[in-house]
Amino acid sequence: MARYTEAKCRLCRREGQKLFLKGDRCYTDKCAYERRPYAPGMHGRIRKKMSDYAVQLREKQKARRVYGVLERQFRLYFGRADQAKGVTGANLLILLERRLDNVVYRLGFAASRDQARQMVRHGLFTLNSRRVTIPSMLVKGGDVVSVRERNKESVVIKEAQETIARRGCPVWLEVDGAALKGQVKNLPTREDIQLPLNEQLIVELYSK
Ligand code: SF4
Repeated sequence: MARYTEAKCRLCRREGQKLFLKGDRCYTDKCAYERRPYAPGMHGRIRKKMSDYAVQLREKQKARRVYGVLERQFRLYFGRADQAKGVTGANLLILLERRLDNVVYRLGFAASRDQARQMVRHGLFTLNSRRVTIPSMLVKGGDVVSVRERNKESVVIKEAQETIARRGCPVWLEVDGAALKGQVKNLPTREDIQLPLNEQLIVELYSK
């Protein structure tokens, strides 16, 4: 499956804010954005006035990059959000938040969404006691995500668990760190998704 393989820190610098794409490193002074808080490239330091379109485009790119979703798949999420009842922008973020790789990350079993995606693909988790390998699966209220018995001693998971103290577990999830499992108490609302995203700009972009 296609995925972005270039340097992650460039993405933060391009979007002009920390997107926390690299796990623990993002909280240290090794963070590239802390060191060079301007866009990458030769002209990165030059400030340009952005058009309305550019502002909307950047917001969409930011959302895609936070969740690690490619353009085509992001469009599909938008189409689905648009058809669902309620506010399209909020629906979109809720769909993205329900992805299994995001839930694994939010539960603290992976240090980043990228790492979570790889771990899901490698079959380290079960969803409602069934082994799963599809990171884009959407969870529902009541679902239980667990680390498989044979992977419970994984050093990567143990290290990742230490990072959740910095991030905290969202209110719509419940984690049992000792048993290495978590439950989706209910689906998230927009208020539960603490991300610096203005989803209305994404709706405006796709509504042109
Ligand atoms: Fe972004 Fe993390 Fe890299 Fe900092 S270390 S620039 S927050 S990905």
